[in-house]
Amino acid sequence: MNQEESSGQSERQWRDDILRRQVRLRCHVIKNLAWNLENGGDFPTPTPQKLCALIRHTVKMIEDHLNETPADQLGNVSLFLCSTAEHLRYVERSRTAHTPWSMIQATEHFLKQQVGEDSHFIIRPQWSYNYSLVGEFVAHYQTSVQSMAWIPARKWEDGLAAIQLTDNKIYCIAFPRVGRLDALLHANWGHELGHIIAARWVHAKFGQIWNGVEDGVKKRIGESIRKSLPASIEEELFKDLIVEQSISDMANTTMEVARHGLTELICDAIGVHLLGPGALAACLEFSAGLSLDENPLQCRNYPPWRYRLHLMLDACHGDLKERKIKVNGRESDYPGEVLRPFCEWLSEGKQLLAHAGDEPAWRQAIVVREAYALIEREWKNIRHDVLDLLPGGAEKPYRLCERHAIIEDLAKKLCDDIPPNEVGCWPNATPARLEDIVNAAWVFKIKKQIENPGWGSPSDYERLCRLALKAIEAGFVDSEFGSRLREVNAT
Ligand SMILES: [Zn+2]
Repeated sequence: MNQEESSGQSERQWRDDILRRQVRLRCHVIKNLAWNLENGGDFPTPTPQKLCALIRHTVKMIEDHLNETPADQLGNVSLFLCSTAEHLRYVERSRTAHTPWSMIQATEHFLKQQVGEDSHFIIRPQWSYNYSLVGEFVAHYQTSVQSMAWIPARKWEDGLAAIQLTDNKIYCIAFPRVGRLDALLHANWGHELGHIIAARWVHAKFGQIWNGVEDGVKKRIGESIRKSLPASIEEELFKDLIVEQSISDMANTTMEVARHGLTELICDAIGVHLLGPGALAACLEFSAGLSLDENPLQCRNYPPWRYRLHLMLDACHGDLKERKIKVNGRESDYPGEVLRPFCEWLSEGKQLLAHAGDEPAWRQAIVVREAYALIEREWKNIRHDVLDLLPGGAEKPYRLCERHAIIEDLAKKLCDDIPPNEVGCWPNATPARLEDIVNAAWVFKIKKQIENPGWGSPSDYERLCRLALKAIEAGFVDSEFGSRLREVNAT
Protein backbone atom coordinates (compact mmCIF):
# COMPACT_ATOMS: atom_id res chain seq x y z
CA MET A 1 0.00 0.00 0.00
CA ASN A 2 1.48 3.33 -0.96
CA GLN A 3 1.23 6.42 1.19
CA GLU A 4 -1.53 8.04 -0.88
CA GLU A 5 -3.80 4.99 -0.64
CA SER A 6 -3.25 4.72 3.05
CA SER A 7 -4.05 8.39 3.68
CA GLY A 8 -7.21 8.06 1.49
CA GLN A 9 -8.35 5.13 3.57
CA SER A 10 -7.73 6.82 6.87
CA GLU A 11 -9.61 9.89 5.65
CA ARG A 12 -12.61 7.66 4.82
CA GLN A 13 -12.34 5.98 8.21
CA TRP A 14 -12.09 9.36 9.89
CA ARG A 15 -15.26 10.62 8.08
CA ASP A 16 -17.16 7.38 8.78
CA ASP A 17 -16.44 7.71 12.49
CA ILE A 18 -17.82 11.25 12.48
CA LEU A 19 -20.93 10.23 10.52
CA ARG A 20 -21.67 7.19 12.67
CA ARG A 21 -21.55 9.31 15.82
CA GLN A 22 -23.65 12.00 14.10
CA VAL A 23 -26.31 9.50 13.02
CA ARG A 24 -26.50 7.99 16.51
CA LEU A 25 -26.94 11.43 18.05
CA ARG A 26 -29.57 12.44 15.47
CA CYS A 27 -31.54 9.27 16.10
CA HIS A 28 -31.53 10.04 19.81
CA VAL A 29 -32.64 13.66 19.32
CA ILE A 30 -35.41 12.85 16.83
CA LYS A 31 -36.78 10.06 18.99
CA ASN A 32 -36.90 12.44 21.96
CA LEU A 33 -38.49 15.24 19.96
CA ALA A 34 -41.13 12.86 18.63
CA TRP A 35 -41.77 11.46 22.10
CA ASN A 36 -42.12 14.92 23.64
CA LEU A 37 -44.52 16.05 20.92
CA GLU A 38 -46.48 12.81 21.12
CA ASN A 39 -46.95 13.26 24.84
CA GLY A 40 -47.43 17.02 24.70
CA GLY A 41 -51.12 16.32 24.77
CA ASP A 42 -52.92 19.21 23.08
CA PHE A 43 -53.98 17.76 19.72
CA PRO A 44 -57.54 17.83 18.41
CA THR A 45 -57.33 14.23 17.11
CA PRO A 46 -54.95 11.28 17.71
CA THR A 47 -53.50 11.50 14.15
CA PRO A 48 -50.49 13.78 14.90
CA GLN A 49 -49.47 11.33 17.63
CA LYS A 50 -49.69 8.47 15.15
CA LEU A 51 -47.15 10.24 12.92
CA CYS A 52 -44.86 10.71 15.94
CA ALA A 53 -45.12 7.00 16.75
CA LEU A 54 -44.32 6.11 13.12
CA ILE A 55 -41.26 8.38 13.13
CA ARG A 56 -40.03 7.06 16.51
CA HIS A 57 -40.43 3.48 15.36
CA THR A 58 -38.53 4.06 12.09
CA VAL A 59 -35.72 6.02 13.75
CA LYS A 60 -35.33 3.36 16.43
CA MET A 61 -34.87 0.73 13.72
CA ILE A 62 -32.12 2.86 12.16
CA GLU A 63 -30.48 3.27 15.55
CA ASP A 64 -30.72 -0.44 16.42
CA HIS A 65 -29.05 -1.38 13.13
CA LEU A 66 -26.47 1.39 13.02
CA ASN A 67 -23.57 -1.04 13.53
CA GLU A 68 -24.62 -3.00 10.44
CA THR A 69 -25.01 0.14 8.30
CA PRO A 70 -22.44 0.09 5.45
CA ALA A 71 -20.01 2.98 5.67
CA ASP A 72 -20.91 4.24 2.19
CA GLN A 73 -24.57 4.59 3.27
CA LEU A 74 -24.01 6.69 6.38
CA GLY A 75 -24.28 9.96 4.46
CA ASN A 76 -27.66 8.98 2.99
CA VAL A 77 -28.98 7.84 6.37
CA SER A 78 -27.92 11.14 7.88
CA LEU A 79 -29.83 13.07 5.18
CA PHE A 80 -32.88 10.82 5.62
CA LEU A 81 -32.91 11.61 9.35
CA CYS A 82 -32.85 15.34 8.62
CA SER A 83 -35.86 15.03 6.31
CA THR A 84 -37.63 12.92 8.95
CA ALA A 85 -37.15 15.63 11.53
CA GLU A 86 -38.81 18.07 9.12
CA HIS A 87 -41.97 15.94 9.23
CA LEU A 88 -42.31 16.73 12.90
CA ARG A 89 -43.20 20.29 11.98
CA TYR A 90 -46.56 19.03 10.70
CA VAL A 91 -47.20 17.62 14.15
CA GLU A 92 -46.03 20.74 15.95
CA ARG A 93 -48.28 23.04 13.85
CA SER A 94 -51.34 20.88 14.39
CA ARG A 95 -51.46 21.63 18.11
CA THR A 96 -54.75 23.14 19.18
CA ALA A 97 -52.99 26.44 19.82
CA HIS A 98 -52.43 26.84 16.05
CA THR A 99 -55.52 25.28 14.50
CA PRO A 100 -59.22 26.15 14.56
CA TRP A 101 -59.52 23.01 16.67
CA SER A 102 -63.28 23.17 16.89
CA MET A 103 -63.65 21.93 13.32
CA ILE A 104 -60.68 19.54 13.05
CA GLN A 105 -62.44 16.46 14.42
CA ALA A 106 -65.47 17.06 12.22
CA THR A 107 -63.27 17.67 9.18
CA GLU A 108 -61.16 14.56 9.71
CA HIS A 109 -64.36 12.57 10.19
CA PHE A 110 -65.75 13.99 6.93
CA LEU A 111 -62.52 13.21 5.04
CA LYS A 112 -62.39 9.65 6.40
CA GLN A 113 -65.97 9.07 5.25
CA GLN A 114 -64.82 9.72 1.67
CA VAL A 115 -61.63 7.64 1.55
CA GLY A 116 -61.98 5.13 4.39
CA GLU A 117 -61.39 4.76 8.13
CA ASP A 118 -57.82 3.56 7.55
CA SER A 119 -56.80 7.06 6.32
CA HIS A 120 -55.86 9.64 8.94
CA PHE A 121 -55.42 13.37 8.46
CA ILE A 122 -53.28 15.94 10.22
CA ILE A 123 -54.78 19.37 9.57
CA ARG A 124 -52.48 22.32 10.11
CA PRO A 125 -51.99 25.94 9.09
CA GLN A 126 -49.09 27.03 6.86
CA TRP A 127 -47.73 30.50 6.20
CA SER A 128 -47.93 30.25 2.41
CA TYR A 129 -51.34 31.28 1.06
CA ASN A 130 -52.37 27.91 -0.23
CA TYR A 131 -54.17 24.68 0.50
CA SER A 132 -52.09 21.53 0.02
CA LEU A 133 -51.86 17.81 0.73
CA VAL A 134 -48.68 15.96 1.68
CA GLY A 135 -48.18 12.28 2.29
CA GLU A 136 -48.76 9.49 2.33
CA PHE A 137 -46.33 9.02 5.26
CA VAL A 138 -46.62 5.29 6.07
CA ALA A 139 -45.78 4.33 2.46
CA HIS A 140 -42.95 6.90 2.44
CA TYR A 141 -41.30 5.35 5.51
CA GLN A 142 -41.92 1.84 4.25
CA THR A 143 -40.19 2.54 0.91
CA SER A 144 -37.31 4.26 2.71
CA VAL A 145 -36.76 1.35 5.11
CA GLN A 146 -36.96 -1.13 2.21
CA SER A 147 -34.15 0.76 0.51
CA MET A 148 -31.94 0.22 3.61
CA ALA A 149 -31.10 -3.42 2.94
CA TRP A 150 -29.34 -3.91 6.33
CA ILE A 151 -32.61 -3.25 8.22
CA PRO A 152 -34.98 -6.25 8.25
CA ALA A 153 -38.12 -4.83 6.59
CA ARG A 154 -40.22 -7.53 8.24
CA LYS A 155 -39.18 -6.32 11.68
CA TRP A 156 -40.18 -2.75 10.75
CA GLU A 157 -43.58 -4.03 9.59
CA ASP A 158 -44.12 -6.01 12.78
CA GLY A 159 -43.44 -2.84 14.73
CA LEU A 160 -46.05 -1.07 12.62
CA ALA A 161 -48.66 -3.50 13.93
CA ALA A 162 -47.70 -2.61 17.49
CA ILE A 163 -48.53 1.06 16.84
CA GLN A 164 -51.71 0.09 14.95
CA LEU A 165 -50.64 1.46 11.60
CA THR A 166 -50.58 -1.70 9.48
CA ASP A 167 -52.30 -0.92 6.14
CA ASN A 168 -53.10 2.56 7.43
CA LYS A 169 -52.35 5.87 5.76
CA ILE A 170 -51.42 9.27 7.17
CA TYR A 171 -51.77 12.52 5.19
CA CYS A 172 -51.32 16.16 6.14
CA ILE A 173 -53.67 18.80 4.76
CA ALA A 174 -52.49 22.40 5.12
CA PHE A 175 -54.54 25.57 4.95
CA PRO A 176 -53.41 29.21 4.77
CA ARG A 177 -52.53 30.59 8.20
CA VAL A 178 -54.17 33.94 7.43
CA GLY A 179 -57.47 32.14 6.79
CA ARG A 180 -57.32 30.26 10.09
CA LEU A 181 -60.93 30.93 11.01
CA ASP A 182 -62.26 31.00 7.47
CA ALA A 183 -64.71 28.12 7.58
CA LEU A 184 -66.10 29.27 4.21
CA LEU A 185 -62.79 29.08 2.35
CA HIS A 186 -62.09 25.70 3.95
CA ALA A 187 -64.53 24.24 1.41
CA ASN A 188 -61.25 23.90 -0.56
CA TRP A 189 -60.50 20.85 1.60
CA GLY A 190 -62.66 18.82 -0.79
CA HIS A 191 -60.14 19.59 -3.57
CA GLU A 192 -57.17 18.50 -1.43
CA LEU A 193 -58.90 15.25 -0.53
CA GLY A 194 -59.41 14.84 -4.27
CA HIS A 195 -55.63 14.57 -4.70
CA ILE A 196 -55.70 11.15 -2.99
CA ILE A 197 -58.33 9.84 -5.42
CA ALA A 198 -56.76 11.61 -8.43
CA ALA A 199 -53.37 10.02 -7.67
CA ARG A 200 -55.01 6.57 -7.60
CA TRP A 201 -56.74 7.25 -10.91
CA VAL A 202 -53.62 8.65 -12.62
CA HIS A 203 -51.57 5.67 -11.42
CA ALA A 204 -54.12 3.15 -12.72
CA LYS A 205 -55.45 4.76 -15.89
CA PHE A 206 -53.51 7.70 -17.29
CA GLY A 207 -50.76 5.63 -18.94
CA GLN A 208 -53.35 3.65 -20.87
CA ILE A 209 -55.08 6.80 -22.15
CA TRP A 210 -51.78 8.38 -23.12
CA ASN A 211 -50.61 5.26 -24.97
CA GLY A 212 -53.78 5.40 -27.06
CA VAL A 213 -53.05 8.91 -28.34
CA GLU A 214 -49.25 9.19 -28.23
CA ASP A 215 -48.59 8.28 -31.89
CA GLY A 216 -51.18 10.76 -33.18
CA VAL A 217 -49.84 13.52 -30.92
CA LYS A 218 -46.27 12.90 -32.12
CA LYS A 219 -47.39 12.94 -35.75
CA ARG A 220 -49.16 16.29 -35.41
CA ILE A 221 -46.29 17.80 -33.42
CA GLY A 222 -43.89 16.62 -36.18
CA GLU A 223 -46.00 18.27 -38.87
CA SER A 224 -46.15 21.50 -36.94
CA ILE A 225 -42.36 21.55 -36.38
CA ARG A 226 -41.67 20.89 -40.07
CA LYS A 227 -43.92 23.78 -41.07
CA SER A 228 -42.10 26.15 -38.75
CA LEU A 229 -38.55 25.18 -39.78
CA PRO A 230 -36.73 28.00 -41.56
CA ALA A 231 -36.33 27.45 -45.33
CA SER A 232 -32.58 27.98 -44.93
CA ILE A 233 -32.27 24.40 -43.58
CA GLU A 234 -32.24 22.55 -46.83
CA GLU A 235 -30.49 19.35 -45.98
CA GLU A 236 -33.25 16.71 -45.44
CA LEU A 237 -31.17 14.54 -43.09
CA PHE A 238 -30.34 17.51 -40.92
CA LYS A 239 -34.01 18.52 -40.83
CA ASP A 240 -35.05 15.02 -39.72
CA LEU A 241 -32.56 15.09 -36.88
CA ILE A 242 -33.88 18.39 -35.53
CA VAL A 243 -37.50 17.27 -35.89
CA GLU A 244 -36.98 13.90 -34.16
CA GLN A 245 -35.22 15.52 -31.22
CA SER A 246 -37.98 18.08 -30.72
CA ILE A 247 -40.89 15.65 -31.15
CA SER A 248 -39.88 13.52 -28.20
CA ASP A 249 -39.35 16.55 -25.89
CA MET A 250 -42.61 18.16 -26.92
CA ALA A 251 -44.62 14.94 -26.61
CA ASN A 252 -43.30 14.59 -23.05
CA THR A 253 -44.35 18.14 -22.27
CA THR A 254 -47.81 17.44 -23.74
CA MET A 255 -48.12 14.38 -21.52
CA GLU A 256 -47.14 16.36 -18.41
CA VAL A 257 -49.55 19.21 -19.20
CA ALA A 258 -52.37 16.68 -19.71
CA ARG A 259 -51.52 14.62 -16.62
CA HIS A 260 -51.20 17.57 -14.28
CA GLY A 261 -54.18 19.34 -15.83
CA LEU A 262 -56.36 16.26 -15.39
CA THR A 263 -55.19 15.82 -11.80
CA GLU A 264 -56.27 19.33 -10.83
CA LEU A 265 -59.56 19.12 -12.74
CA ILE A 266 -60.35 15.79 -11.06
CA CYS A 267 -59.69 17.39 -7.65
CA ASP A 268 -61.99 20.31 -8.50
CA ALA A 269 -64.69 17.88 -9.62
CA ILE A 270 -64.39 15.97 -6.33
CA GLY A 271 -64.52 19.21 -4.31
CA VAL A 272 -67.75 20.28 -6.01
CA HIS A 273 -69.18 16.76 -5.82
CA LEU A 274 -68.70 16.68 -2.05
CA LEU A 275 -69.44 20.27 -1.08
CA GLY A 276 -71.51 21.59 -3.99
CA PRO A 277 -71.73 25.34 -4.65
CA GLY A 278 -69.83 26.00 -1.38
CA ALA A 279 -66.68 24.56 -3.00
CA LEU A 280 -67.29 26.55 -6.19
CA ALA A 281 -67.76 29.79 -4.22
CA ALA A 282 -64.52 29.15 -2.29
CA CYS A 283 -62.63 28.71 -5.58
CA LEU A 284 -64.22 31.84 -7.08
CA GLU A 285 -62.99 33.89 -4.13
CA PHE A 286 -59.62 32.15 -3.94
CA SER A 287 -58.90 32.83 -7.63
CA ALA A 288 -60.14 36.45 -7.60
CA GLY A 289 -56.65 37.84 -7.10
CA LEU A 290 -54.97 35.49 -9.59
CA SER A 291 -54.65 35.53 -13.36
CA LEU A 292 -57.56 33.60 -14.89
CA ASP A 293 -55.89 32.79 -18.20
CA GLU A 294 -52.37 31.84 -17.22
CA ASN A 295 -50.63 29.58 -19.72
CA PRO A 296 -50.12 26.15 -18.07
CA LEU A 297 -46.53 26.15 -19.36
CA GLN A 298 -45.87 29.26 -17.30
CA CYS A 299 -47.46 28.03 -14.06
CA ARG A 300 -46.20 24.52 -13.38
CA ASN A 301 -48.76 22.94 -15.73
CA TYR A 302 -51.77 24.10 -13.67
CA PRO A 303 -54.94 24.51 -15.75
CA PRO A 304 -56.05 28.16 -16.17
CA TRP A 305 -58.48 29.25 -13.46
CA ARG A 306 -61.15 30.33 -15.97
CA TYR A 307 -61.15 26.81 -17.40
CA ARG A 308 -61.36 25.23 -13.93
CA LEU A 309 -64.16 27.51 -12.79
CA HIS A 310 -66.16 26.81 -15.94
CA LEU A 311 -66.08 23.09 -15.31
CA MET A 312 -67.12 23.63 -11.68
CA LEU A 313 -69.92 25.98 -12.73
CA ASP A 314 -71.13 23.35 -15.20
CA ALA A 315 -71.16 20.74 -12.44
CA CYS A 316 -73.36 23.07 -10.30
CA HIS A 317 -75.58 23.97 -13.24
CA GLY A 318 -78.69 22.31 -11.74
CA ASP A 319 -78.35 24.36 -8.54
CA LEU A 320 -78.38 27.68 -10.40
CA LYS A 321 -81.60 27.12 -12.33
CA GLU A 322 -84.79 28.83 -11.20
CA ARG A 323 -87.70 26.39 -11.11
CA LYS A 324 -90.45 24.67 -9.12
CA ILE A 325 -89.25 21.91 -6.81
CA LYS A 326 -91.03 19.58 -4.40
CA VAL A 327 -90.26 20.05 -0.69
CA ASN A 328 -91.93 17.53 1.66
CA GLY A 329 -94.48 16.74 -1.06
CA ARG A 330 -95.39 20.41 -1.56
CA GLU A 331 -94.44 22.44 -4.63
CA SER A 332 -92.10 25.29 -3.85
CA ASP A 333 -90.10 27.98 -5.70
CA TYR A 334 -86.38 27.34 -6.10
CA PRO A 335 -84.06 29.02 -5.16
CA GLY A 336 -86.56 30.98 -3.03
CA GLU A 337 -85.97 34.17 -1.09
CA VAL A 338 -83.11 33.01 1.18
CA LEU A 339 -81.00 31.14 -1.41
CA ARG A 340 -81.66 33.50 -4.32
CA PRO A 341 -78.84 36.03 -3.73
CA PHE A 342 -76.23 33.23 -3.53
CA CYS A 343 -77.51 31.50 -6.69
CA GLU A 344 -77.66 34.84 -8.55
CA TRP A 345 -74.13 35.71 -7.43
CA LEU A 346 -72.86 32.39 -8.82
CA SER A 347 -74.79 32.88 -12.09
CA GLU A 348 -73.36 36.38 -12.39
CA GLY A 349 -69.89 34.85 -11.97
CA LYS A 350 -70.68 32.43 -14.76
CA GLN A 351 -71.63 35.24 -17.15
CA LEU A 352 -68.61 37.37 -16.25
CA LEU A 353 -66.26 34.45 -16.74
CA ALA A 354 -67.61 33.62 -20.21
CA HIS A 355 -65.15 34.10 -23.06
CA ALA A 356 -65.72 36.66 -25.77
CA GLY A 357 -65.28 33.94 -28.41
CA ASP A 358 -61.65 33.98 -29.56
CA GLU A 359 -59.43 31.08 -28.70
CA PRO A 360 -57.52 32.03 -25.53
CA ALA A 361 -53.81 32.77 -25.92
CA TRP A 362 -52.79 29.93 -23.60
CA ARG A 363 -54.00 27.43 -26.21
CA GLN A 364 -51.64 28.70 -28.91
CA ALA A 365 -48.72 26.37 -28.17
CA ILE A 366 -49.29 22.99 -29.80
CA VAL A 367 -48.28 21.07 -26.66
CA VAL A 368 -51.03 22.78 -24.64
CA ARG A 369 -53.54 22.46 -27.49
CA GLU A 370 -52.89 18.73 -27.81
CA ALA A 371 -53.03 18.19 -24.03
CA TYR A 372 -56.39 19.96 -23.75
CA ALA A 373 -57.79 18.20 -26.81
CA LEU A 374 -57.07 14.94 -24.97
CA ILE A 375 -58.60 16.25 -21.73
CA GLU A 376 -61.74 17.45 -23.52
CA ARG A 377 -62.23 14.21 -25.40
CA GLU A 378 -61.92 12.05 -22.29
CA TRP A 379 -63.23 14.36 -19.56
CA LYS A 380 -66.82 13.14 -19.32
CA ASN A 381 -65.81 9.50 -18.83
CA ILE A 382 -62.88 10.28 -16.54
CA ARG A 383 -65.04 12.50 -14.33
CA HIS A 384 -67.69 9.81 -14.05
CA ASP A 385 -65.13 7.05 -13.27
CA VAL A 386 -63.41 9.12 -10.62
CA LEU A 387 -66.61 10.24 -8.88
CA ASP A 388 -67.72 6.62 -8.85
CA LEU A 389 -64.78 5.89 -6.56
CA LEU A 390 -66.44 8.00 -3.85
CA PRO A 391 -69.00 6.65 -1.37
CA GLY A 392 -72.43 6.94 -2.97
CA GLY A 393 -70.83 7.05 -6.42
CA ALA A 394 -71.09 9.51 -9.28
CA GLU A 395 -74.88 9.68 -9.05
CA LYS A 396 -74.86 11.22 -5.57
CA PRO A 397 -73.40 14.72 -5.81
CA TYR A 398 -74.13 17.35 -3.15
CA ARG A 399 -77.06 19.35 -4.54
CA LEU A 400 -78.13 22.63 -3.01
CA CYS A 401 -81.60 22.25 -4.53
CA GLU A 402 -82.07 18.93 -2.72
CA ARG A 403 -80.95 20.50 0.60
CA HIS A 404 -83.05 23.62 0.00
CA ALA A 405 -85.21 23.49 3.16
CA ILE A 406 -82.26 22.57 5.39
CA ILE A 407 -80.04 25.35 4.04
CA GLU A 408 -82.86 27.89 4.50
CA ASP A 409 -83.31 26.79 8.09
CA LEU A 410 -79.56 27.00 8.84
CA ALA A 411 -79.09 30.35 7.08
CA LYS A 412 -81.99 31.81 9.10
CA LYS A 413 -80.27 30.66 12.30
CA LEU A 414 -77.15 32.57 11.21
CA CYS A 415 -79.33 35.67 10.68
CA ASP A 416 -80.42 35.32 14.32
CA ASP A 417 -76.80 34.91 15.52
CA ILE A 418 -77.41 31.26 16.41
CA PRO A 419 -74.84 28.60 15.44
CA PRO A 420 -76.44 26.54 12.64
CA ASN A 421 -75.60 23.18 14.21
CA GLU A 422 -79.02 21.57 14.00
CA VAL A 423 -81.94 21.47 11.63
CA GLY A 424 -85.38 22.15 13.09
CA CYS A 425 -86.20 23.08 16.66
CA TRP A 426 -85.49 21.24 19.89
CA PRO A 427 -86.56 18.53 20.76
CA ASN A 428 -87.25 17.55 17.13
CA ALA A 429 -83.91 18.73 15.79
CA THR A 430 -81.33 16.70 13.88
CA PRO A 431 -77.60 17.51 13.81
CA ALA A 432 -76.52 19.51 10.75
CA ARG A 433 -73.93 18.08 8.35
CA LEU A 434 -70.62 19.84 7.68
CA GLU A 435 -71.51 20.28 3.98
CA ASP A 436 -74.83 21.96 4.86
CA ILE A 437 -73.25 24.29 7.41
CA VAL A 438 -70.59 25.46 4.92
CA ASN A 439 -73.17 26.06 2.18
CA ALA A 440 -75.53 27.83 4.60
CA ALA A 441 -72.64 30.09 5.66
CA TRP A 442 -72.04 31.01 2.00
CA VAL A 443 -75.76 31.62 1.44
CA PHE A 444 -75.85 33.89 4.49
CA LYS A 445 -72.68 35.79 3.56
CA ILE A 446 -73.74 36.60 -0.01
CA LYS A 447 -77.27 37.50 1.10
CA LYS A 448 -75.87 39.94 3.67
CA GLN A 449 -73.39 41.45 1.18
CA ILE A 450 -76.13 42.06 -1.38
CA GLU A 451 -78.76 43.35 1.06
CA ASN A 452 -76.32 45.60 2.83
CA PRO A 453 -73.14 46.62 0.97
CA GLY A 454 -71.78 47.88 4.31
CA TRP A 455 -71.80 44.33 5.70
CA GLY A 456 -68.44 42.62 5.73
CA SER A 457 -66.44 44.38 8.43
CA PRO A 458 -63.81 42.17 10.10
CA SER A 459 -66.12 41.70 13.08
CA ASP A 460 -69.11 40.74 10.84
CA TYR A 461 -66.93 38.26 9.09
CA GLU A 462 -65.36 36.87 12.24
CA ARG A 463 -68.78 36.42 13.84
CA LEU A 464 -69.97 34.42 10.83
CA CYS A 465 -66.86 32.20 10.80
CA ARG A 466 -67.05 31.58 14.55
CA LEU A 467 -70.74 30.66 14.34
CA ALA A 468 -69.99 28.28 11.45
CA LEU A 469 -67.01 26.68 13.27
CA LYS A 470 -69.05 26.36 16.47
CA ALA A 471 -71.85 24.73 14.47
CA ILE A 472 -69.50 22.29 12.73
CA GLU A 473 -68.11 21.23 16.10
CA ALA A 474 -71.52 20.95 17.81
CA GLY A 475 -73.11 19.21 14.80
CA PHE A 476 -70.31 16.64 14.80
CA VAL A 477 -70.49 16.04 18.56
CA ASP A 478 -74.26 15.61 18.38
CA SER A 479 -74.20 13.27 15.38
CA GLU A 480 -71.45 11.15 16.97
CA PHE A 481 -72.40 11.14 20.62
CA GLY A 482 -75.95 12.56 20.74
CA SER A 483 -77.81 9.26 20.78
CA ARG A 484 -75.55 7.86 23.50
CA LEU A 485 -75.95 11.03 25.58
CA ARG A 486 -79.72 10.84 25.23
CA GLU A 487 -79.65 7.21 26.39
CA VAL A 488 -77.58 8.16 29.43
CA ASN A 489 -79.96 11.03 30.16
CA ALA A 490 -82.96 8.73 29.99
CA THR A 491 -81.57 6.32 32.60
ZN1 LIG B 1 -54.54 20.71 -6.37
